[in-house]
Amino acid sequence: MYANIIIDITHEKLDKIFQYSIPSRLEDSLSAGMEVVVPFGKGNRLTKGYVVGFAEHCGYDPAKIKEIQDISRKGVAIEGKLVALAAWMKDHYGGTMIQALKMVLPIRQQEKEKVRKRLRLLLDEEEGRKKLEFYLHKNQRARARLLSALLDDPVLDYELVHKKLNIPLSVVRALEEQGVAALESERVYRNPVKHKEQARKEITFTEEQQNAVEHFWEDYENRRYRTYLIHGVTGSGKTEVYIEMIRRVAETGRQAIVLIPEIALTFQTVMRFYRCFGDRVSIMHSRLSAGERYDQMMRAKEGKIDVMIGPRSALFTPFPDLGLVVIDEEHENTYKSEQVPRYHARETAIARAVMEHASVVLGSATPSLEAMYRAKAGEYTLLELKNRSGQQELAQVHIADLRTELKNGNRSILSIRLQELMADRLEKGEQIILFLNRRGYAGFVSCRECGHVAKCPHCDVSLSSHRNKGLVCHYCGYEEEKPERCPACGSRHIGEFRAGTQQIEDIVKAQFPQARVLRMDMDTTREKDGHEKILSAFANEEADVLVGTQMIVKGHDFPNVTLVGILAADMSLYADDYRAGERTFQLLTQAAGRSGRGSRRGEAVIQTYSPEHYAVVTAAAQDYEAFYQEEIRYRELMGYPPVENLLAVLASCPDEAHLETGCRFLKEYAVRVTGRERVDLIGPASPGIGKINDIYRKVLYLKAERYDTLVRMKNRLEQYIEVNAGFDTMRIQFDFNPMQVF
Ligand code: ADP
Ligand code: ZN
Ligand code: ZN
Repeated sequence: MYANIIIDITHEKLDKIFQYSIPSRLEDSLSAGMEVVVPFGKGNRLTKGYVVGFAEHCGYDPAKIKEIQDISRKGVAIEGKLVALAAWMKDHYGGTMIQALKMVLPIRQQEKEKVRKRLRLLLDEEEGRKKLEFYLHKNQRARARLLSALLDDPVLDYELVHKKLNIPLSVVRALEEQGVAALESERVYRNPVKHKEQARKEITFTEEQQNAVEHFWEDYENRRYRTYLIHGVTGSGKTEVYIEMIRRVAETGRQAIVLIPEIALTFQTVMRFYRCFGDRVSIMHSRLSAGERYDQMMRAKEGKIDVMIGPRSALFTPFPDLGLVVIDEEHENTYKSEQVPRYHARETAIARAVMEHASVVLGSATPSLEAMYRAKAGEYTLLELKNRSGQQELAQVHIADLRTELKNGNRSILSIRLQELMADRLEKGEQIILFLNRRGYAGFVSCRECGHVAKCPHCDVSLSSHRNKGLVCHYCGYEEEKPERCPACGSRHIGEFRAGTQQIEDIVKAQFPQARVLRMDMDTTREKDGHEKILSAFANEEADVLVGTQMIVKGHDFPNVTLVGILAADMSLYADDYRAGERTFQLLTQAAGRSGRGSRRGEAVIQTYSPEHYAVVTAAAQDYEAFYQEEIRYRELMGYPPVENLLAVLASCPDEAHLETGCRFLKEYAVRVTGRERVDLIGPASPGIGKINDIYRKVLYLKAERYDTLVRMKNRLEQYIEVNAGFDTMRIQFDFNPMQVF
């Protein structure tokens, strides 16, 4: 066995893993993440390194391999564990070790650390009095003034000494030299959680909640650290379950990380944790300054907190003894990094948990296909919460078939059904949410009369409209002309689907002049806390209707909302990638789940041109299992994740011809090194955005049954790229099981 070791994590140039042999006396005690001492370089200088993994074979001449000298006294320091995690990420997602380390280790702080200085009296009362007389005798007024203040209060804040008593530093120094007083400093941490006392609501767990907690706890107490998937309908009390699990883990002296999508990280959510854990909880989010973020990491490292809440990056909190990672809304796209290494927080959390003997709890009302697939395979433990915690039933959902609206003379974007229900709610003083699903790429082409959508004959994803090219498949590059008439029904009403939130706000105001309307989208939330302000205004019932994009689906509870209108379900349904059905089901279910959270039962209207599409039908029935079965059949048929694995190789270059040649070489090389395992190669195709800032882009897809096969392919391709100068002007990135098409 050989140990893989990183020598110096601060040096940009040493982006390399070195192999060392393991002396037999260390064989049993060495593990990943340990700090070791190794001979390094020409002079074999003893240097600090971190073990990031082990290998059975070594890639160099065994005679030249050096031996690990010793394990440093620190053993597994938290940095070591995170370095090992970074090595895992580099291996699984591609990129360099330095890129992985930058994601994982807290930013080295350039910013000044905030320090509080204090002056402490070193003399006892009697000695102090004597000294004071001496100063007065010598007419050393400033010294006397300071000492007399210290005799009143032996520890003084330096700011105060300086400003209020008007004492210059030279005088403080003089007292220090004479052994009268000493200046001390203490690190002060910025704490982003603003204190606000509020008692925690006492609740009695439902049987389902209790079972979930006990199941987890029995495993945990017996050191069976597993991954759990809590599938719980919206409002079933998942958050309460997380809090209880964390409370028990924290009692054993270990720490927990809670990942939440940034968009759902509201004041309301943080307060629920705060009420239970007080000052022992901290948060991370993108609106904190670099200094504040750094401070939270240091507080975690020094054992000052038990719980860290934050988005994806909070996963790398340097806790000394991590016991649990919770990932709420685990199906969210934001858990996948868009920077290299393009890691997924779910997989990475599990990797970290395995290294540190911790558990992972995933939660969602609409679990990702990946998570449910693994739960059904027994890899994760499934915990179900089928009922809402209170009396409320799930909303009643109607489907409005937009194809009939045109025939019935309704040209408004609001269906007749939705208009009727809106009038009813406005009359009763209840609130309405209108949701415009815009996350999908809106370039798909559909027929306004029959709902027909143009699809790729090879990939079963919708074609996208390009201004100059016609219709294009972003997976395989297939092209066809834009149709003049619908190939299914002959109608001329075929074209691109477009609508915006602003437009909808205007329509609502025109049709319901009495309604007070709020709009939430990129434009209205640009200012700081804009998001929070609009949500609070709506929660305080300062408006009747809230119009918005997917931002409004999460976070706040609005008990007075009894109607949700989903204006264009098709928008994400025909986004041009294989996750379109899944994303649509999630959005529709989550949106409908916003209705009727208070004492009255809610209703929801899904407007669509494809009322028979399984994602729409199963979302309307709020039947996850039925959706899952249909969707997994499609993934099996097409060999898409999670059944098989997909690797996107993204290449970009300012020279288009060079890019095309490079991609051809890459593909040919990939074919050559495939070996015995089956690897499908698709493309290279032009991605949705074929050129950014005059840099051309191409994407090549590799499909294989096993993830490992793709990791191996990636390693071969990385080597090939490194040794061939032709790739010097190209940038190549890898994305495993991508969340979107490029
Ligand atoms: P989820 O995270 O599944 O959407 P929450 O944990 O936010 O659900 O619970 C929804 C609401 O129900 C919250 O206001 C919560 O305090 C309350 N709640 C959860 N469990 C119970 C319970 N057992 N008894 C009473 N109220 C509960
Ligand atoms: Zn048609
Ligand atoms: Zn295709």
